[in-house]
Amino acid sequence: MPPFHEIVGCIHIHSIYSDGTGTIPEIAKVAEEVGLNFIMMTDHNNLRALTNGEEKWYGSVLAIIGYEINDIDDTNHYLAFGLTEEVNRNLPAPQYVHQVALNGGFGIIAHPDERRDVMLEHPPYPWTAWNSDDYQGIEIWNQMSEWMEGLTPWNKLWRFINPRRSTVGPSIQTLQRWDQVNEKRKVAGIGGVDAHAHKHRMFGGLVEVTIFRYKIQFQTVRTHLLLTKPLLPGLDVEEAKKLVYDAILNCRVFVSNFFNGDAKGFLFWAENESGKAHIGGDINFAPETTLHVHLPAMAQVHFICNGELIQKKEGKIVTHKVDRPGLYRVEVLRQNRAWIYANHIRIIGEPAKLDQ
Ligand SMILES: [Zn+2]
Ligand SMILES: [Zn+2]
Repeated sequence: MPPFHEIVGCIHIHSIYSDGTGTIPEIAKVAEEVGLNFIMMTDHNNLRALTNGEEKWYGSVLAIIGYEINDIDDTNHYLAFGLTEEVNRNLPAPQYVHQVALNGGFGIIAHPDERRDVMLEHPPYPWTAWNSDDYQGIEIWNQMSEWMEGLTPWNKLWRFINPRRSTVGPSIQTLQRWDQVNEKRKVAGIGGVDAHAHKHRMFGGLVEVTIFRYKIQFQTVRTHLLLTKPLLPGLDVEEAKKLVYDAILNCRVFVSNFFNGDAKGFLFWAENESGKAHIGGDINFAPETTLHVHLPAMAQVHFICNGELIQKKEGKIVTHKVDRPGLYRVEVLRQNRAWIYANHIRIIGEPAKLDQ
């Protein structure tokens, strides 16, 4: 039995407290209907939902309130959690990232490599402040960014009608950055839906459509967390948040696209004579070290070491023998579509022996 309790939820959601169209109780109800355990709200530049007492349980769904900070030029979007009040907005990104940490919170870089140019009214908001080292997570997959990046005048209608089919996979560039920064320190990779349920007028304004209803987005990019204790509905909210934050900060995280299958029950661990390390964990290297992957359905597993693809295997239960220390993770494809992205396991080498 795995030593952790898996929960599943969606991160990066906007409500009527900024440019979303749902109230938090409405959004939480939708989340409950589609079987999520938690949602992490991130309205732009305000924590009013928190001060209004909306951070709580809604039936079986825990709604956590953070917020999305941007700098004065509206770049560098940062999802901040664990704060009781907003930080000063007029700071450049490295400073608000630092301030969030100083105030006892933590943060996740939103849509780091966004680069769309098809809609003048929606420019890209990439992350530029890579000199900062105070962030704790990166959004390795942002559903809304991906959808908008792929938009052309010709496929617009198809993408409106098929939002989930147009969710293909994370940006390679972001995955590379994430691997690189993890060589220095642990940085969680999470999935963001960036849900707004925007209303949009089409056909010369005759028809109003909702772009990505919350219900659609909650059935696409999901973030799974491995908690040290079960998250029982009704548990004290501070206690519950601690469990959630602890999983994120320790990278006990995997991201899935629910559209390609329910990833609940996915397991990835490394094992040798000294024990086991699950997602986010560390283990010392030994000559007989094996990576294990258990999947809820047949799929193709890509083993990645220090950012390089080292092995592809197909199956429901897949193993791979490791011949060197390194930073290992897996990407899982189902019918050639991106399905599961696990955070890293570190296999630590012998410390180099110094010459006498
Ligand atoms: Zn944003
Ligand atoms: Zn956003």
